[in-house]
Amino acid sequence: MNPRVKKIVKNVLVERAVSESPVVSALRERLPDASFNFVDKVPESSRKIPGLLEVVHFKGRFWRSCPGTKIYECCGYQIVHIGTQCSLDCTYCILQSYFESPNLRIFGNTEDLLAEVQAVPRSSPQKLFRAGTGEFTDSLLLDPWTGLSEHLVPLFARIPNAVLELKTKTDHVTQLEKLNHGGQTLVSWSLNADDVIRSEEPRSAPLKARLRAAQRCADWGYFLGFHFDPMIDYPGWREGYRRTLHALFDAVDPSRVVWISLGAFRFMPELKSIIQSRHPQSRIVTGEFIRGLDGKMRYFRDIRVALYTLMVDEIRTWDPSLTVYLCMEGPWVWKRVFGFEPSERGGLPAMLDQAVRDRMGVGISSRARGAKNAAG
Ligand code: SF4
Repeated sequence: MNPRVKKIVKNVLVERAVSESPVVSALRERLPDASFNFVDKVPESSRKIPGLLEVVHFKGRFWRSCPGTKIYECCGYQIVHIGTQCSLDCTYCILQSYFESPNLRIFGNTEDLLAEVQAVPRSSPQKLFRAGTGEFTDSLLLDPWTGLSEHLVPLFARIPNAVLELKTKTDHVTQLEKLNHGGQTLVSWSLNADDVIRSEEPRSAPLKARLRAAQRCADWGYFLGFHFDPMIDYPGWREGYRRTLHALFDAVDPSRVVWISLGAFRFMPELKSIIQSRHPQSRIVTGEFIRGLDGKMRYFRDIRVALYTLMVDEIRTWDPSLTVYLCMEGPWVWKRVFGFEPSERGGLPAMLDQAVRDRMGVGISSRARGAKNAAG
């Protein structure tokens, strides 16, 4: 586990309305050296205060559909909103442009969050929900101290039509070992070429540590996911990504992997100057980009196709049936990379639902699930 993270939380500012919540109790017990202060309302500030964690009473919706876009293939993902910001400080992180609340923040009204998680899938029992907490923060960055997964993972195990994805760049998994996950949580890692990890994600866990953590989760019966996003076009990318894929499949059995996503680097134009001033050593925004239909800057199509094709060809040699999908790409790129577009297979959400059914056995009848488990 990365001890630097523990040091990153030195002060905890808690809104009184959530002072009795389970996450605050867990934080007080597990961060004995941190100082705790209680206020009626955590002030909005545009100043980033190192070492500060804010615990607020969140009044918005915890469960929401990923906004996606109508222009590119959307995966129909559901977001379980647990907090905002991240101290891993990857150079390309979109959260750097969220100026209103730049500090690490979690939501303390855990009971409200859990109630919503229970209610939404129940309201549409015929639908399969793929939900994740890693949209506005890293799912496991603070988890050893907040204990949130100790509530969420067993809860998802009791929801027949939903799976939870915990997405991380850390190796903070020890707390997951003893949880009753019921095969309905997949732990997933964002991976990259080692050179990119070292230059653009220096505060995250190294590749080896991420894969070791994945191995441990697989040993505890969790399913796994991997996300190569953002893929970076840099000199030596072919070898770099190949090496990561080899390390990945040396570490884990492909049959435990539910999906692998691929997404080439893209960014809103306003992020460029932020990256250049906050991470002057980074070269990722210096290449040639075109503006996509969603307004984001992206690599030329041929470069994206080359990045994806290499990955897909390599992955297929390890497991031809593993679900690989593209993030925010249109049908033309899909066709070039895979030879088909999602609409020919019922759309991307249907393809990912099928991966959940096939690999995790969730969303199929309990009889079929029993037969599947018996078959191993
Ligand atoms: S781990 Fe994710 S959320 Fe955290 S800084 Fe990196 S890109 Fe941003």
